[in-house]
Amino acid sequence: MKYFLLILGSIAIISCGSNHITRHNDSSIVTGEIATTFANTITANDLKDHLYRIASDEFEGRETGEIGQKRAADYLKSFYIESGIASPYGGSDYFQSIPTEHLRESINPSENVVAFIEGSKNPNEIIVISAHYDHLGMNSGGIYYGADDDGSGTVAILEIAEAFKQAVSKGNGPKRSILFLHVTGEEKGLLGSKYYTNFPIFPLKNTVTNLNIDMIGRVDEAHTNNPNFVYLIGSDKLSSELHDLSEEINARFTQLDLDYIYNEDDDPNRFYYRSDHYNFAKNNIPIIFYFNGTHEDYHKTSDTPDKINYELLTKRTQLIFFTAWEIANRRQRIKVDQ
Ligand SMILES: [Zn+2]
Repeated sequence: MKYFLLILGSIAIISCGSNHITRHNDSSIVTGEIATTFANTITANDLKDHLYRIASDEFEGRETGEIGQKRAADYLKSFYIESGIASPYGGSDYFQSIPTEHLRESINPSENVVAFIEGSKNPNEIIVISAHYDHLGMNSGGIYYGADDDGSGTVAILEIAEAFKQAVSKGNGPKRSILFLHVTGEEKGLLGSKYYTNFPIFPLKNTVTNLNIDMIGRVDEAHTNNPNFVYLIGSDKLSSELHDLSEEINARFTQLDLDYIYNEDDDPNRFYYRSDHYNFAKNNIPIIFYFNGTHEDYHKTSDTPDKINYELLTKRTQLIFFTAWEIANRRQRIKVDQ
């Protein structure tokens, strides 16, 4: 107890000035240890268990508006209810329903799945962690399991949410609020995130950052000899502070090679425009898009859970958790300066 008081004293003295993380700052060491405790609850086994369900025959490739997608939505909802993680609407309504007129004529009504952890100090400031849970469905050629695209992002969010929930239960809940947003309709044209940003559950002006995850379970050809990587796209487009924070967090906790080759303005692949973060960036909300590049199974029936690199998926998921932790707990709200 006495020793603990000592740390608190030093935190008060040292941290009243800077907002930056500095390795030799007592408060950041303690905060880092606490964050690490909860990051370690994110495990390869849990990610694997979820992914083998999400990318199973039962969910039939999760095409927007089809039965497989609905079953996946129920799976996500049950997880949040069992984990004691609330709905942003309250009660047991975890779906943001999207009528056909906001999708396309040929698409049945669908839903984004949403869950929420309220911040203890700045509850009106929201961090959105997103990934699409829909995929290409099935045809005569078989089921498009979409284990990497985007089963990997979907299960990463479940583990991140659980880690934050554990932090709350231990009295270390985030100061800012976190919305876990599983969007539908991505493969149909970013339709679920478009609907969310057109009809946001929380005012977009209160949305501090969007961390979007789309394919983080594999290694692309370019990194065959150096798989300890992740592509980051968009981190410096709207906020230099977000970019610096992301770099510092990675250097401190996960030491992945952060590859920015797809972040170039003239990137011929235009990945910056091709996943759900773009609908947030369009609304001037700082974003980071986490991605592992395409691979030989991209958009094929062979994108299956047995091909996922679960150690790498775990580490990338922990990077996103630590980044969200810092954004949620740092003194000042991330500033838009670009
Ligand atoms: Zn995708």
